[in-house]
Amino acid sequence: MKRLWNLSLVGKVFFSYLAVTLLLGVGFYLSANSLIRDFHIGTLSHRMEQEAHLLGRVLPFGIEGDPLDAICRQLAGELGSRITVITLEGKVVGDSAEPSLKMDNHRSRPEVREAIESGTGSAQRYSTTVGFDMLYRAFHQRADRQARIVRIAIPLKDFDGVIRGMRRSLFAGLALASVAGLLLAWWFSKYLSRRVQRLTDFTAVIAEGNFPQGFLTSHERDEISLLERRLNDMSQRIYDNLVEITGEREKADSILRCMIEGVVVIDPKGNVLVINDRAKQMFHVADGREIHGASILELSRHPDIRAVLDEVLKFDFTSTPYRKEIEIEEGAWFIVNAAPLRTPLRMTLGSILVFHDVTELKRLETIRSDFVANVSHELRTPLTAIQGYVETLIHTPPADADMQRQFLEIIVRHAERLGRLTEDLLTLADLESGKIRIAPRPVDAGRLIEQTLEVFWERAGKKDIALTQQIADHCGYVRGDPDRLQQLLINLIDNAIKYTPTGGQVAVSAAPSQADNRMQIEISVADNGAGIPETDLPRLTERFYRVDKARSRDLGGTGLGLAIVKHIVHAHGGELQITSELNKGTTVTVRLASVEKESAKNSILFLCTGNSCRSQMAEGFARQLANGNYRIFSAGTEPKGVHPLAIQVMEEVGVDISRQTSKGLDAIVLADLDQVITLCGDADERCPTLAAKVKRSHWPLADPASARGSEAEILAQFRQVRDQIKQRVAALLTDR
Ligand code: ADP
Repeated sequence: MKRLWNLSLVGKVFFSYLAVTLLLGVGFYLSANSLIRDFHIGTLSHRMEQEAHLLGRVLPFGIEGDPLDAICRQLAGELGSRITVITLEGKVVGDSAEPSLKMDNHRSRPEVREAIESGTGSAQRYSTTVGFDMLYRAFHQRADRQARIVRIAIPLKDFDGVIRGMRRSLFAGLALASVAGLLLAWWFSKYLSRRVQRLTDFTAVIAEGNFPQGFLTSHERDEISLLERRLNDMSQRIYDNLVEITGEREKADSILRCMIEGVVVIDPKGNVLVINDRAKQMFHVADGREIHGASILELSRHPDIRAVLDEVLKFDFTSTPYRKEIEIEEGAWFIVNAAPLRTPLRMTLGSILVFHDVTELKRLETIRSDFVANVSHELRTPLTAIQGYVETLIHTPPADADMQRQFLEIIVRHAERLGRLTEDLLTLADLESGKIRIAPRPVDAGRLIEQTLEVFWERAGKKDIALTQQIADHCGYVRGDPDRLQQLLINLIDNAIKYTPTGGQVAVSAAPSQADNRMQIEISVADNGAGIPETDLPRLTERFYRVDKARSRDLGGTGLGLAIVKHIVHAHGGELQITSELNKGTTVTVRLASVEKESAKNSILFLCTGNSCRSQMAEGFARQLANGNYRIFSAGTEPKGVHPLAIQVMEEVGVDISRQTSKGLDAIVLADLDQVITLCGDADERCPTLAAKVKRSHWPLADPASARGSEAEILAQFRQVRDQIKQRVAALLTDR
């Protein structure tokens, strides 16, 4: 039974049905069996009673023995039964089956006794006369003051055959119905099992963390369908909640991930519950190391961390927020803020520690105070000298005029130094604060070097230094601010000449190079002078850092030159490299991004406003003259008609102004412009779309079209305008 119970749902349902069917079948069979027999016997005995009554009327009174036996035999043959006539004393007076004279007294026969007593009697028993079971029916006949018992008997042998036949059909019917029922039960239990299996599959999928939509769609209306709908709703709700929780969690995770502060959440025992990437970085937690649940002291054994932990765990956050500055490693400074982690019911779950890395702040603070000290010192030195010599000149002036002059020269030298110092300081401050804006445009590297060297030829010559330049053919253009790049070169060449002894060499070179698929131009200033010790190299670009302070000062250095160079290079997105060998020389290399030749050309926009024909003439002229050196754009109002004399003047110089080349401003990429020249019109022609960095100029031109006078006078005015434009374009080209 136990085994049976362990069967699948199909088995259980099927076997339940089987048991019910069997019980019902057997019960029905048994009860139907006896019912059929009783019913059949009842019907038979009723008929036999009627026949007995009928026989009573047919069988004559007053005869007995063989004559009556013969009548009985005849009637019995027709009825198919045995007929017996018995006196009330039990004597058999006629019988269809045997000679009545030989038969015993039948008074004791139950059916006879019952008939004598109550009028009718019946019995079933084995007949010794015929040798098988018989059904007897006796009738107490009274007529004309005579009475007798008429008994009919039929053998149950035939009757049992009929009953057996009926039983067989009943059994066959029941068996057929049971098989059909069981088949139905099998199908139904299979169907039920399938639906339950679907529920099981569904819960298994959910348990795996998947939330299939429409998994349990059912159009039926039974309890399982209701359960399916409820499960569907439940899964949808769990899914929605999960999505919300996951979303919230991801949000929190990304906030934690993106935070520049380190965050560590600890439980009341000091074990880590949550730690963000920044904190892991701060505490050098190796990638993949699991630290959740580990003590915070495993992150760092530094006494400051232990102190923070002890304090935070005992801290009363109600009065003041927790804040402490700690140094967990050599030179790594942090400010730790702590807050309690509480449930909405104010149950404390632990503490949140936020670590702000203030190392850089500390470093900047140190740099700032060092800088202030340095500046004060640098300023004090020349000031003290100036003050000393001035006081001497005032109070005890030397009698010797040469001496006086010498003093004054010293004062001037220190004053100049002060001037240079303040100028360098201002430049540096402006570069750092972004006050000096880099207005990048294509700068011809070769030309830039040539222009810068012009300042140094004389100085180099005086010091007998061989100053040379090596500019590669088609060296190209760098994108940068020409003024700042010149300042950078001046500082480098100045240093090279300054720190190279008489008779030395300084070479300035420029050549294109390539790095990471980026085209660059490499500008180097190399000397064979004093050189720099290797240990000093990394610090050279720090403000006021000098290898030899006294020497630098003597040579008029401020200690700010390379710091300025570094800023300019960075502002241009370039690279600075200093290589040096003591007593052999120094090479400073600057790498800047190069720009292509076409885009290297400066872009210029001739903005034509005001009188149309004058504008068009000016634009046509300017275009023709400046083209090839500039990328020219022009924009302005469309001319309605060109003055015939303007056309004449233009034809004189072969300029075709019949073609309108001006476009609307919106057709020009304004971000690429380097210069805008307003032709005619008002000087302050408003053009808000132009960036402020664009260099703007105005060419005020006379308007010959509105001139009064003879044709020759007007023509002269047009020619005058033409010449003015020519001059201005020429100036523009030399200015480039
Ligand atoms: P300074 O005004 O003192 O020249 P810089 O910032 O330009 O300041 O240079 C910093 C220091 O680097 C100098 O004081 C000098 O010691 C060293 N230095 C710079 N350029 C050279 C060079 N070409 N040769 C040797 N030393 C140099």
